[in-house]
Amino acid sequence: MTHILVTGGAGYIGSHACKALKKAGFTPVVYDNLVTGWKDAVKFGPFEQGDLADRARLDQVFAKYQPAAVVHFAALSQVGEAMSQPGRYWANNVGGSLNLIEASVAAGCLDFVFSSTCATYGEHDNVVLDENTPQHPLNAYGASKRAVEDILKDFEAAYGLRSVIFRYFNVAGADPDAEVGEFHRPETHLVPLVLDAIDGKRDALTVFGTDYDTPDGTCIRDYVHVCDLVDAHVLGLKWLQDDKGSRVFNLGTGSGFSVREVMDQSRSVTNREVPFNIGPRRAGDCTKLVSGSTRAEVELGWEPSRSTLDIMIRDAWGWHQTGHYES
Ligand code: UDP
Repeated sequence: MTHILVTGGAGYIGSHACKALKKAGFTPVVYDNLVTGWKDAVKFGPFEQGDLADRARLDQVFAKYQPAAVVHFAALSQVGEAMSQPGRYWANNVGGSLNLIEASVAAGCLDFVFSSTCATYGEHDNVVLDENTPQHPLNAYGASKRAVEDILKDFEAAYGLRSVIFRYFNVAGADPDAEVGEFHRPETHLVPLVLDAIDGKRDALTVFGTDYDTPDGTCIRDYVHVCDLVDAHVLGLKWLQDDKGSRVFNLGTGSGFSVREVMDQSRSVTNREVPFNIGPRRAGDCTKLVSGSTRAEVELGWEPSRSTLDIMIRDAWGWHQTGHYES
């Protein structure tokens, strides 16, 4: 039985990754402090509650399972919060990750898959972003992820730690079986907020700015179906197992959609109006974030076949109507 330690495995992306890992024949061991994750989302392997700051607990979990690799999702991930509380982002995302990386090396677990973000690139004036685009993060979220990328490089030089770093664009959709799905408290992400507004679970959506330099004035993002995204992680693990060395991959499809396009598609999938109002820009938002790279497809063989707006919103709506977590 090959154990994979999945930090943040009780969260949105981590829980979908556990399902994919199990399907690929691995046993995902979830390590999560349940601050933003859900115990009900841990369905595909053992659960170990713990914090990244707790080195003794991490050492205990590494000793118990002797994982072949770490897939590290656990992080704070809200741009707005990162602007107002940067210290939490540096402490949790960087300090916590350093602790985890040190524990992993100490346990002799030298294969590491890391969730990074396109927010490490910052604003680049409508240029598509590839893995060599200079990284100038605009907020503490992007900066904290960038710092962990640097730690991984230093630990490779010193201790031979091999990493696959995925820079995510925007993740959306849900498991089509609705076993797991997107559920944040508070919710800040566009697709679940649109669906909540549609069925009256919350007030109208506020569109954060319509004066951006884009065709309809709203921000453009590159949305990837969460099931496609986590498939890349399984391929990343195989990449490391095949001894192909450390590598950075963007996970985006190259298709950008505006906030208005997401709202229009949601109306068409659900056949209901999206109540909305227009508000000011949100601090820390870039005009456009779209991947200009096919590296993951060419080198990993990644096929983001479910990342159309139609399928993502359909699957998110399916989960929205049937699933939620209590604990
Ligand atoms: N957005 C919005 N209203 C909301 C939440 C998000 O207009 O209530 C916009 C946001 O400005 C961005 C896009 O939707 O352009 C995606 O935001 P989200 O928070 O989902 O992801 P992010 O791009 O911040 O990672």
